[in-house]
Amino acid sequence: MQIKRFEFNLFGENTYIVYDEATLEAAVVDPGMSDADEVSLLTEYIKAHSLSLKYILLTHAHIDHTFGVEALQAAYPGLPVLGHKNDIPLAMTRGQQAQMFHLPINAGPIKFDRLVEDKNVLMLGKDEIIVITTPGHSPGGVCYYVPSAGSVLTGDTLFAGSVGRVDLPGGNGSILLKSVREKLMTLPLDTVVYPGHGSATTISREEHTNPFLR
Ligand SMILES: [Zn+2]
Ligand SMILES: [Zn+2]
Repeated sequence: MQIKRFEFNLFGENTYIVYDEATLEAAVVDPGMSDADEVSLLTEYIKAHSLSLKYILLTHAHIDHTFGVEALQAAYPGLPVLGHKNDIPLAMTRGQQAQMFHLPINAGPIKFDRLVEDKNVLMLGKDEIIVITTPGHSPGGVCYYVPSAGSVLTGDTLFAGSVGRVDLPGGNGSILLKSVREKLMTLPLDTVVYPGHGSATTISREEHTNPFLR
């Protein structure tokens, strides 16, 4: 499996395309495109690599990770959005989130077409994406583990040298640390971590250096 990173919107959010080189089946994780140029960057990459999109995967439903959902569904009609049921309230209140961050946009609710649960397996070709529920930053936060790429996409749960903020509605610090320790730090040590903001890291590096995990 291949993982391609884009950095979009004023929050510097990482949008990823995960794809299987054999079948070219692909998923977009956290589409954060906030204008036409960012949408083009993503769709041009998809076209240039002849990728066939199967899913929009949300690590959580904060506005910076969902800015581009409508544009992507407009470009690829019928493309399903997958997320965890505990983040439906956030998905329904993107307008309020936009207001909270003083964003001059009209963000409507988005619908989850399919709900994911812990240990669900999503296929791209013959390769697996495994859902890991990691609440704390948001109630329905999940990570997507890609064993064949030795990688995990962690959204705003785990960053290089940090963890997600827990002061937003539904956030909980002790639940977040429990998720990170029990669900992420138990992955193979050489697993590459692709977070929702900032650069990639590894489970081993975070285990040794992340000050929030002391
Ligand atoms: Zn977030
Ligand atoms: Zn974020």
